[in-house]
Amino acid sequence: MRATPDPFPLPSDGDASGRTFDETELAYVTEALRSGTLNSTRGTFVARFEREFASWLGTKHAIACASGSAAVHCAVAALGLQAGDEVITTPITDMGALTPIFYEGAVPVFADVDPDTLNVTAATIEAQLTERTRAIVVTHLFGCPCELDAILAVAERRGIPVIEDAAQAFGATWRARKVGRFGRLAAFSLQQGKHITSGEGGIVCTDDDALARRLFLCVNKAWGYGDADPDHYFPALNYRMTELQGAVLCAQLPKLDGVVAARREVAATLREALGALPGVRCPDDPEHGAHSYWKFGFRVDSSTVPGGAVALGGRMRAQGIACAPRYVQKPAFECQVLRDWQGSPVTAMPLAHNPRGRRTGPLFERSHYPGAVRGLEQVVVLPINERYQPHHVRAVADAIRTAHRELTL
Ligand SMILES: *Cc1c(COP(=O)(O)O)cnc(C)c1O
Repeated sequence: MRATPDPFPLPSDGDASGRTFDETELAYVTEALRSGTLNSTRGTFVARFEREFASWLGTKHAIACASGSAAVHCAVAALGLQAGDEVITTPITDMGALTPIFYEGAVPVFADVDPDTLNVTAATIEAQLTERTRAIVVTHLFGCPCELDAILAVAERRGIPVIEDAAQAFGATWRARKVGRFGRLAAFSLQQGKHITSGEGGIVCTDDDALARRLFLCVNKAWGYGDADPDHYFPALNYRMTELQGAVLCAQLPKLDGVVAARREVAATLREALGALPGVRCPDDPEHGAHSYWKFGFRVDSSTVPGGAVALGGRMRAQGIACAPRYVQKPAFECQVLRDWQGSPVTAMPLAHNPRGRRTGPLFERSHYPGAVRGLEQVVVLPINERYQPHHVRAVADAIRTAHRELTL
């Protein structure tokens, strides 16, 4: 009799079990160390990663930096906003995508999301446009592309640049083109849990030469390297990536398409293994796009499954399956940093230049975000990764079925 492999523990993106590192990363890191040059201003690996990533994505420029937050910060900063300007974004995202907006003197204004995908839509963005809107950030949550045709049409009508936050969406496509090529700028994160990683890191991309120059300056304390009469032109930090990170990423990038393909395979197998469970809806490709499954977020309808996502997730956890019912506990505007915006000059300054700051009470009210509230209530997020084998997927599907049976008995 053939022994069934024990599925536990499941591969985790927090360690080697769920990450795709091999001798190539080791060889490149060793090469970087042996060279003795660990900073990107003189080294070769970060520059090579930038060239190769731009070529992978199909953009003219790619500028590496210290994190996904830094990438978003550079993208926002490159647009040169004024105090009190507004940037439309999503309430369901990483805080690293929101704080940079404040640091550039602008006010994040939240568009509601489609409860099915947790993505912003053209309609929810349009509802938040004001005469102060200067940029729109679209986040392809979990790797599912936003409805880019309609969103770009809204933005173009008003001449407002779009920034794609593609931190979770490496290799996702819209009309067979990779996301990250649709906005004026696109930001990616290379943090430990993303599709490819150097532990921390980010990269920001554009086709626009002038914006690329601004991005380079944003990463480099705005020092005009190579200029006839260089100076520090505007406030900017040192957001550079190190050569050690660049070395790891030069080895990671050639694996990226395989990682995305493997994750799609895992998602397809899981969808199939779950079949048609009443009250459960699995993520899938949108009509004109392809999902790249950073996470597998499925929806649980509490009118069919008593207790909904929280109860189902709790029973999955009891069976040893890691999952996150609700993904994040609350929409971003309910986090302390946004509720207590007078508590820091970083958040208070933009609002001192915007009529929203004269309001009493909260800046954004939960009752205006029914999509986000419902979407978060219904979602259970599974941390799948490219190292899941069929027996791992079976274990996850069995646990979901068991939890579902217990709750619907
Ligand atoms: C991970 C992430 C970020 C921030 O990236 P860091 O590398 O953690 O700073 C920004 N936006 C989204 C959507 C993310 O998932």
